[in-house]
Amino acid sequence: MRVKLLGAYIDALNMDQTVERVVGFVQSGRLHRIITLNPEYLYQAQSRRELLNLANSADLVTADGNGIVWGCKMAQQPVSERITGIDLMLRLCARGDHLAWRVFLLGAAPGVAKEAAANLKRQYPGLIIVGTNHGYFTENESDRIVAIIRQANPQLLFVALGAPRQEQWIAQHQPRTNVAVAVGVGGSFDVLSGRKQRAPKWVQQIKLEWLHRLVKDPARWQRQLILPKFTWLVLKRYLLKI
Ligand code: UDP
Repeated sequence: MRVKLLGAYIDALNMDQTVERVVGFVQSGRLHRIITLNPEYLYQAQSRRELLNLANSADLVTADGNGIVWGCKMAQQPVSERITGIDLMLRLCARGDHLAWRVFLLGAAPGVAKEAAANLKRQYPGLIIVGTNHGYFTENESDRIVAIIRQANPQLLFVALGAPRQEQWIAQHQPRTNVAVAVGVGGSFDVLSGRKQRAPKWVQQIKLEWLHRLVKDPARWQRQLILPKFTWLVLKRYLLKI
């Protein structure tokens, strides 16, 4: 089932169902795009139609962030749980471990994807990491990156370029990479490489992961100003109905 929040359709699946859906995508061999939709993206999509279209044309959209889960509740169309890029990536790598999936990691600073790949390989020895590439390339270099990915022939492509660039890059280039499934995973490689720490579980449980990220990386404050704006928009639309 899909629910609608501020014009975007979101799949109301729990993590197990989401993973099964992706297994089906990989097995089909046909192109599928996945978006882990966070409040920042959805807020920007209110004034940038192309971002809303990208989300609404994806094959699977997960509720990435407590803000989205809360918003869906306010819209009286609840989703079962938050499904972040990194959590989804780890669960997919666990499935890929058993199914010997071929995966490619694209994004983050030079060296980071390689370190993340080495850690993933240790944790999931059955996973076949067919290649990595950093994410600091210009649009002119995209053709070269596409050729590298195509040559490596993965089934699953994780793209960590930050939103919304990763979603745009996937929509534009995935068809030529010929990869069945592509998903944008934001800052996941930074965490998987060990270069950045994710908030402890208890902080996530009390829904303060955003505060942890802000403290660790104060430069994010400007980006996080979107969160109160997003909250206000949801309240206006679904509570005050103005
Ligand atoms: N990044 C990149 N190329 C760029 C800009 C950013 O590969 O041109 C990477 C950056 O190094 C980081 C990721 O994209 O690993 C974005 O992380 P962020 O924490 O901002 O993403 P979020 O999870 O908040 O969407």
